[in-house]
Amino acid sequence: MKIKDYLSPNFDKKNRSKNKIKILVIHYTGMQSERESLKRLCSSRSKVSSHYLINRSGKIYRLVNDNRTAWHAGKSCWGKYKNLNKSSIGIELVNKGHRFGYTNFSSRQITSLKKISKIIIKKYKIKNRNIVGHSDIAPLRKVDPGEKFPWKYLAKKKIGIWHYCKPEVLKKERRVRILDNNEKVKFKKCLKKIGYCFSNNKKLFFKIIKAFQMHYRNELVSGILDKECLIIAQNLTKRL
Ligand SMILES: [Zn+2]
Repeated sequence: MKIKDYLSPNFDKKNRSKNKIKILVIHYTGMQSERESLKRLCSSRSKVSSHYLINRSGKIYRLVNDNRTAWHAGKSCWGKYKNLNKSSIGIELVNKGHRFGYTNFSSRQITSLKKISKIIIKKYKIKNRNIVGHSDIAPLRKVDPGEKFPWKYLAKKKIGIWHYCKPEVLKKERRVRILDNNEKVKFKKCLKKIGYCFSNNKKLFFKIIKAFQMHYRNELVSGILDKECLIIAQNLTKRL
């Protein structure tokens, strides 16, 4: 696999050891163009970077070496891990994002992502449950890579986890709102098992639901808790 070096100055000066790497974080660039994204990720003023960037033709750029901590996750949490820059590899996919015209990821882009993810997962023994989107680890701030990202397809290729609920069973439960407090508590417990971190702030909880939906129920990203979400969340916990 060809990877082009296009190195960014944005990383911790201290090297990290191989066994620190536990999580793979997927992003979209959310900017008007590939050129602009590369420029930002490589500008010392921006203070952001990632390890890799994949453009729409499937070309892979290496911006930061794996043994360096890149600056892509920001304030974040997943399971027992906090502020994930130091424990993760970040991959940016070129996509204008929700602000500038969110489009499907190209199949070449996903093919390249699949290849490089396989290598990273094997090399650092990353668990499937620790392959996440930026929105999963920072749900109050981030929405990338968004609902068009093909999590289901990748999970079938053993990249990430997925549920095994029957679509016809799920569909009946979509939009059936959960109002019962016990069921809400059940859902929250499942989310925590999966890895989501959140406080009990009721006002912000819809953002957590949204992050979950973008990843595991992208047909309807409403921020409203329904029975389908609960069934999926319960099923996912059996796959961890
Ligand atoms: Zn991001």
